[in-house]
Amino acid sequence: MPRDYYEILGVARNASQEEIKSAFRRLARKYHPDVSSEPDAEERFKELNEAYAVLSDPQKRAAYDRFGHAGVGGAGGAANFDFGDVADLFAEIFGFGDFARAWSHAGRQRPRRGRDLQVTLTLTFEEAVFGTEKEVHYSRREVCSACGGSGAAPGTRPQTCPTCHGSGRVRQTRTTFFGTMVQETVCPTCGGRGEVVAQACPTCRGQGVVTQQVRRVVEIPPGVDTGTQIRIAGQGDVGENGGPPGDLYVKLRVKPHKFFHRKGDDIILHLNINIAQAALGAEVPVPTVDGTETLRIPAGTQPGATFRLRGKGVPRLQRTGRGDQIVVVNVEIPTHLTAAQRHLLEELAESLGTEVKPQARGGFWEKVKDLLS
Ligand SMILES: [Zn+2]
Ligand SMILES: [Zn+2]
Repeated sequence: MPRDYYEILGVARNASQEEIKSAFRRLARKYHPDVSSEPDAEERFKELNEAYAVLSDPQKRAAYDRFGHAGVGGAGGAANFDFGDVADLFAEIFGFGDFARAWSHAGRQRPRRGRDLQVTLTLTFEEAVFGTEKEVHYSRREVCSACGGSGAAPGTRPQTCPTCHGSGRVRQTRTTFFGTMVQETVCPTCGGRGEVVAQACPTCRGQGVVTQQVRRVVEIPPGVDTGTQIRIAGQGDVGENGGPPGDLYVKLRVKPHKFFHRKGDDIILHLNINIAQAALGAEVPVPTVDGTETLRIPAGTQPGATFRLRGKGVPRLQRTGRGDQIVVVNVEIPTHLTAAQRHLLEELAESLGTEVKPQARGGFWEKVKDLLS
């Protein structure tokens, strides 16, 4: 169990930013490994930095207050901790800038996870419903294959750095207010690698990594929608200094369909029927994503009536079963009549009389609005 961050800094849970900063300042002086004689100084110092990195950032602090260590990246949020972040404060505490720079340089040499990458993929309505395979194109940083990542021209090898003799670090002794400090910094000649490249690899210009165009087939599961993200582990940029690669996120966008709408796992279809079908009842063909189905419309169907075709909706993502298709009926009033149709309607009009009645609340449009909201 990692220790409570407030406890580490010895402050109350409602401590102000000023109090947190001054507690950190005091304890950092006490436990800095270069000045402290405490046996567990290094461990304490690391813990202190971690606690400060979280509590000094209002956003991280809020996450920590709510969810504990899990809210800030799990046990020892150290994974996300960058010494460079507190470099300025160190400079302030210890009164000189080199020290801070040394830390931030040291940070650059630690294994670093590669960047996550994102691509957007557009799917048709049907592809989103049933799933598909799609090729994505993107560029990522990869290890240079010409030099195997060493940065040295093929046929040559990196040489041991003459300045640091391969350790990647150089030491300097300084006298400060706190006593003599041995300051270790990253070797300026080799940048901490311990090796120097005499003849740079022409492919990567000595960088050891190159940007490469990649094509990759992505499996799209059934039931995805606009905004769904698919994570492909390890397909982002290559890591630095032996760190793991980042991930690739494929963000999906679904093109609107000509007549199907989606509402969660249900598919909504608006269907026009004529007044005779509505009044007398009918069996009508209805498009679904699985092909044409027959829908029985009972006599006396009103505009806005809905019918459910069970299991004809969208497969539930990462679960079993499918949604339904909901058919919303609209009764179409004819605008062009043949003479015969006109005659028939006139007879109907005569038989229905001239009586009208106001519509009760919850009529056609309200039903449709409810359904689409
Ligand atoms: Zn190379
Ligand atoms: Zn060196």
